[in-house]
Amino acid sequence: MRFLNRETIKHIGEKVKVCGWVNSRRLHGKILFIDLRDRSGILQLVFTPSQPTVYQTALELRSEWVIEVEGQILKRPAQMVNPKLETGEVEMIVDKLTVLSKSLNPPFSIEGDGYEIREELRMKYRYLDLRRERMKQNLIMRHKVVKFMRDYLDKEGFIEIETPLLTKSTPEGSRDFIVPSRLHPGKFYALPQSPQQYKQILQVAGIEKYMQVARCLRDEDLRGNRQFEHTQMDLEMSFVQEEDVMSLIENLLINLVKNLYPHKKIQEIPFPRLRWQEAMKRYNSDKPDLRRDKNDPNLLAFCWVTDFPFFEKDEEGKWTFTHNPFSAPKVEYKKDLLEKKNIEKIIAAQYDIVLNGAEIGGGSIRGNTPEILESVFEIIGYRKEEIKEQFGHMLAAFQYGAPPHGGIALGIDRILSILQNEEDIREVIAFPKSGDGRDLMMNAPSEVSSQQLKEVHIRILKEKESKAPKPKKRKPKKLSKKK
Ligand code: ASP
Repeated sequence: MRFLNRETIKHIGEKVKVCGWVNSRRLHGKILFIDLRDRSGILQLVFTPSQPTVYQTALELRSEWVIEVEGQILKRPAQMVNPKLETGEVEMIVDKLTVLSKSLNPPFSIEGDGYEIREELRMKYRYLDLRRERMKQNLIMRHKVVKFMRDYLDKEGFIEIETPLLTKSTPEGSRDFIVPSRLHPGKFYALPQSPQQYKQILQVAGIEKYMQVARCLRDEDLRGNRQFEHTQMDLEMSFVQEEDVMSLIENLLINLVKNLYPHKKIQEIPFPRLRWQEAMKRYNSDKPDLRRDKNDPNLLAFCWVTDFPFFEKDEEGKWTFTHNPFSAPKVEYKKDLLEKKNIEKIIAAQYDIVLNGAEIGGGSIRGNTPEILESVFEIIGYRKEEIKEQFGHMLAAFQYGAPPHGGIALGIDRILSILQNEEDIREVIAFPKSGDGRDLMMNAPSEVSSQQLKEVHIRILKEKESKAPKPKKRKPKKLSKKK
């Protein structure tokens, strides 16, 4: 049976088998020390010439070779104890060695944080980059955070439901990734910008408490801390008001920090709440950083921002929604919305959650009647037929007893990067895209065969032909924001 390196401390005096990668090697006189790394940590292996065959093979070992060894676990002499290692009090005197797999000389060191290594190199050899302790910890904590949220919501009665990845292109605010249909020539699916419409329709279906760890795909330029795809803890509930969703999420986050990041301090509980106008006036930002001490890496300043204007003017002077066309107006503005009056004053039942100056989530109470939805789309300039064509399914569903409902989505990548004190969300994503949108390891995007193109009825234009007019610059709506 194979033991993990970390487990060997409980087996002093015994003969055990361990496996892993050669992390480093040092020759002290005639004695060869190898630090063996597995997912649990490091174990020091000792090879001496008293075992000539094993010793000879061991001398050939190089960084990142994969080996299996057997030997006795012994307590290290007192002066050799390494207090920095969990296994620092023991070592293995190896008497059997098998090389399982050799490695080329790695293009960069796996020890250390790796921030100094060129990003292209880290991305190309991501499987090596992920071997470093920092990256491993980021992935482990990501797993724990997502699991905590899932378990928490499960206890609260939510059920996780998967919604389709192939869906309909709708003007939700961002640019869609589109997928050509083979069976329906000239038609396209879109990858979801979020499960927004499905999760609302699930409320009409009587689910009442939906959740999903959902991937959201948006074809926007990868400025700053953004990726084409990001992960949300997405949820939706029936028969609720703003307060219900906000207190659920606030308690979830407080418990998450207490359980998984006990060394971190939440600056203020309950989380302070700011109305949008107030946030803009006082901080000139709708995601203010309220930390009293910005040098403290363990300080978490959460806050809620509420009372967002429903609409704003775009560059062309037309009305557009600020967050989400599916939001409800606050009750006192319902009449104005239905009558399409005082549009600039209408406030949405929207709430954003902010952490240390980053928007880590947002949601709203939704409009649950066809009239509200129609009004919103009319205000932003849709003709009746267009509304029907784009959102007919929502209007139809809302005619069959749609409960009042609302929800929120938390941005897992952002939350993790803040909790792990990482500047960039790429550090907490196993296989992110590079700044120009490529997967440098898989070499995606890539060309496809002419047969594949034919099957989906697509012809690639030659460079001259494809001088299409530059796409209109769009200001990403909140719905399209990477969280
Ligand atoms: N679907 C929204 C978003 O992705 C979140 C929500 O309102 O629930 O931003």
